[in-house]
Amino acid sequence: MPDADVIVVGSGVGGLVAAGLLARHGRRVLVCESHRVAGGATHGFEHRGFHFDAGPSFFWGLGNPASLNPVSQVLAALGESLDSVGYDPLNVYHLPEGRFPAHRRGIDYRAAIAGFSPRGAVEFQAFEGRLLDLYQALKAIPIMSLRADWRLLPYLMRHHPLPLLRLTPRLRAIYSSVGQLMDRCVTDPWTRRLIDLECFLITTLKAHDTPTPEMAVIFGERDQIEVDYPRGGTQAIAAALVRALERWGGTLRTRAHVQRILVEQGRVRGVRLRNGEELRAPIVISNATLWDTLETLLAPTDVPAAYRAAALRTPTASSFLHLHLGIRADGLTGLHPQHVIVQDPDRDIRVPGNVCMISIPTLLDPSLAPPGHHAIHAFTLEPWEGWQRGEGYRARKQERAQIIFRALTRLIPDLRERIVVEMIGTPLTHARYLRRHRGTYGPLIRAADGLFPSCRTPVTGLYRVGDSTRPGVGVPAVAASGILCANTLLGMDEVASLL
Ligand SMILES: Cc1cc2nc3c(=O)[nH]c(=O)nc-3n(C[C@H](O)[C@H](O)[C@H](O)COP(=O)(O)OP(=O)(O)OC[C@H]3O[C@@H](n4cnc5c(N)ncnc54)[C@H](O)[C@@H]3O)c2cc1C
Repeated sequence: MPDADVIVVGSGVGGLVAAGLLARHGRRVLVCESHRVAGGATHGFEHRGFHFDAGPSFFWGLGNPASLNPVSQVLAALGESLDSVGYDPLNVYHLPEGRFPAHRRGIDYRAAIAGFSPRGAVEFQAFEGRLLDLYQALKAIPIMSLRADWRLLPYLMRHHPLPLLRLTPRLRAIYSSVGQLMDRCVTDPWTRRLIDLECFLITTLKAHDTPTPEMAVIFGERDQIEVDYPRGGTQAIAAALVRALERWGGTLRTRAHVQRILVEQGRVRGVRLRNGEELRAPIVISNATLWDTLETLLAPTDVPAAYRAAALRTPTASSFLHLHLGIRADGLTGLHPQHVIVQDPDRDIRVPGNVCMISIPTLLDPSLAPPGHHAIHAFTLEPWEGWQRGEGYRARKQERAQIIFRALTRLIPDLRERIVVEMIGTPLTHARYLRRHRGTYGPLIRAADGLFPSCRTPVTGLYRVGDSTRPGVGVPAVAASGILCANTLLGMDEVASLL
């Protein structure tokens, strides 16, 4: 007797979405999570009364099932929901020329551009119009119907012919980069730099490497739905998905590190945990990264050598340096929930340390810190290379963290006197607590390289979800990867029953 119909390795958002949907359709699902808490990058942690997010903090449409955000659509389908707080501007960019409030509505965003470049504002309107046109066309295809096999196209042709027809003339836009669209609409250098920054904040790539649909959805959703943050911190997303999983009879086991995915004669048989326990299932879904799956969970001979070599050639995005601070909040003014600080205008935004992202979620949910205090999560890109524990590690941490301190003191000049909790996280911390190869943000797949890999693998019964599969990196994208994978394993009638 198998121990489950499906075993999911890892409880990131991608894994939890796939697990929840399969449990909803009666599959016996077991999620094995290595960490003591669920959520992967969306997990949070407490320290001396402060609650900190480990990773993401920028979201849209979480509390609105009408949103295109796959997280809210899946939660609605599973009978769960999230309580969230909306806010605007969604970010304040500290640029060499001044502070730019990135408003969520296009009209306000363009007005802010006009304050820096009237010509740029006019050009941006044409650019944004094309993104919104693509957003409307994409929106008409029900995301909950997507799957990664040949049955998708006949299904869409039969049930959604008009949205499909509407997408056809937009195929060029779908497969092009934001940069190509920008080249057609925007000549103003300042506005072009702004578009590069918008893309970088989502993909760590500039406009010419960022796929257009990704930014079309983000601009469309923030204009027409809402930018919001979950009450209780980012971990509330994982908590809601776990509730949904358990509501439908699925099981989550934490502190259950999978050491090996068991494959016999090209077919998956289950998993072996670090404690030696073997669990059997005909389907295994790996939510670990592409590199962790291929290099540690599978034996080299489990997959064809050419597949393995090609997959492992995928470039990895950088890791991060994090600063988690608890500070006294008395007398602080002019703070917003999210800030982005561009430190040196003469250097490329992709240079590690040059752009710092700062999140102060206590402005949206004060319960995340003791009264009169703020919790701050600030981070910047940091390469993996050169980091090792041992002599010099602490000193290097301190030295590198000064980059983030410098950014933060632009925002809060007397920051150092206010600190009551200080924690520095390096790429090693990131790799350890997020269980990610070299602490990477994910695969660095450029628009010109085509789509991210499918959830399918050459091993019968083995699938993958998460940010090294289609459609890509980011919480909404990995939730969509969970939908794609679950639907591929379900019958058409089962999928249709939730639409
Ligand atoms: C600093 C930072 C900021 C970000 N900001 C944003 C943002 O503002 N908005 C946004 O949308 N996205 C953001 N992202 C991206 C987003 O968080 C990720 O793309 C997404 O959460 C990844 O989800 P995932 O399902 O791929 O897996 P992960 O979150 O990586 O989860 C994988 C899970 O698998 C577990 N696991 C791995 N190996 C094993 C094993 N062998 N056995 C058992 N369990 C295992 C891990 O412990 C982990 O829980 C950010 C990411 C980072 C790091």
